[in-house]
Amino acid sequence: MAGGRIIDRIIQALRTVFGPVLQQWPLWLTTVLTLIPMTWATWEYHVIRLHDLPLSHLLGSLVTDASVAAVVATLVVWIVAHIPGRRVVKWLIYVLLLALWLVSLFLLRNFNTTYTPQVLQLLLETNRGECSEFLHAWIGAPGTRRAIMIVVFTLALVLVAEWLRPRVATWLQRRVPMVVASLLLTALLLFGLWNIRPLVRSYHSLYELELARADNHANDVLSTLHASIVTLRIQEQETAAAIDLTVREATEGQATCAVDSMDLVLVIGESYNKWHSSLYGYGLDTSPLMRAERDRGLLTVFTDAISPYNLTSVTLKNLFSLNSLGHGERWEQRPMWTAVMHRAGWQVDVWDNQRDFMATELFTASLNMYLFNPRIVETVYHQVNAVGHEFDADLVKDYYASCPASARNLVIFHLMGQHTQFSARYPHTPEWEVWTPAEVPNATAPYIDDERRQVILDYARATRYNDYVLASIIEHYRDRNAVVVMLSDHGEEVYDYRDFIERDHNPVKTPLMVRHENEIPLLVWCSPVYKARHPERAAAIAAAASRPVMNDAIGQMMLWLGEVSSPWCDSTRNVLHPAYRPAPRLIYDNIDYDRLMSRQ
Ligand SMILES: [Zn+2]
Repeated sequence: MAGGRIIDRIIQALRTVFGPVLQQWPLWLTTVLTLIPMTWATWEYHVIRLHDLPLSHLLGSLVTDASVAAVVATLVVWIVAHIPGRRVVKWLIYVLLLALWLVSLFLLRNFNTTYTPQVLQLLLETNRGECSEFLHAWIGAPGTRRAIMIVVFTLALVLVAEWLRPRVATWLQRRVPMVVASLLLTALLLFGLWNIRPLVRSYHSLYELELARADNHANDVLSTLHASIVTLRIQEQETAAAIDLTVREATEGQATCAVDSMDLVLVIGESYNKWHSSLYGYGLDTSPLMRAERDRGLLTVFTDAISPYNLTSVTLKNLFSLNSLGHGERWEQRPMWTAVMHRAGWQVDVWDNQRDFMATELFTASLNMYLFNPRIVETVYHQVNAVGHEFDADLVKDYYASCPASARNLVIFHLMGQHTQFSARYPHTPEWEVWTPAEVPNATAPYIDDERRQVILDYARATRYNDYVLASIIEHYRDRNAVVVMLSDHGEEVYDYRDFIERDHNPVKTPLMVRHENEIPLLVWCSPVYKARHPERAAAIAAAASRPVMNDAIGQMMLWLGEVSSPWCDSTRNVLHPAYRPAPRLIYDNIDYDRLMSRQ
């Protein structure tokens, strides 16, 4: 009897807590489903465009995003259940949700974006006249029409659900469905509260925010809006300073150049684990073309280069800035070295294959705001690419088809490289579908199954494709006075020593983690013409191969290669110079890389 009473009490308690959700289930569902537009867009993208459906990944992101929205939805139905005039309030909330849904769909369908920092900035800066002009221009667009159709369809579903609501609610309040629904809701809400943590703490730098977002990747409207607002606030301070310095350097800086005609190329790869390249001893020949260049004596392979972080955006900010982390200088305290090159008379072209890629994500948005800030584009670059390409070789072709070379030409390629989803990084043709899973080296650990072996194989193929992309760039300079520098923004784990892939954002770093995530390839190719004209410089480059270097020091190297003189030039920071004195290599702001690795 007593047991029965306890169960009755528990059921009564569950009814009190979850009653409003079960009573107002259409409102609860509508709130959850309209607050995760990016999740639906990701599903559509994977199902329609990529044809490979990592279902567990997609379901995982759905549950993460929905959990945050579920916390909001539960609050909403609670408020509606406990205030007077609830019918009016409920329909007002529906109107609000559908309006937000319409805006989300409008942004996604027309611009493939969400509430990013740029979109928010546009909204803040746009006056009413511009706004109506803008709406007028986009009102009849196919994306807008589709967005409206989806919202009308959603409204129809809401009306049907509200008509069915009393009957379903009565059924939901029965003992078994209610207990099941309550358990599911409890799990979802607890997960949601966990995922909401990044929204309630304070941030002092974009790096902190990116780190929090990398750990907990909720893409619901609430998390996206929060990240965008915080980004705008911090970025305004950080980036404004860096942009001012760079623009001033490009327009008023003191810089001259000692060379009349030369081509200088910087190729920035992505997520390149050098231990998967045959240049660094990998068991499959993933870099045959670069090996051939090395054997011809044209390519210097650096053996001790690292990146300061395992995130793209913060690494590239430090790479483009003339700061030195080991000297305690932050990236926003120094101008970009490209501005110094521009001022010295170099034509600077930037062809970036990641500019549109995941443009809605914080890491892309935060980098683009700096690298492609309109004032920087205007004062530093000669030309930038208009569109991205599915494969890197097409980006390279696009550049050489559209840009005639000038006398002193600096070209920067930012590739997609071996970015996540390795199988999407090379064309699926017989030429690139080389090797079989059985040939994958060192894949004997117990956690390596067929699926993982295929992933390692895809990484090897993507690495080999990257080798071809580098060679296709070099081919343009074989008979010219040219130097091509190639490196990666950071490394990547590919089931190397544990059952783990991509990058780990745990603040505690182990030597093995750092070996795979921070050690990077760094290659310098000198054309035969360059070697003949500058034997002493070519010898200096070859002599530097084993020196320790971090990729925040690339700017000094580029200025020296471009024979630029400027007050910013510092031979003690230039790895190619005999006067080079390496600074402590601080990774993740405060870990001494060399000390950490000596523990191995
Ligand atoms: Zn990256």
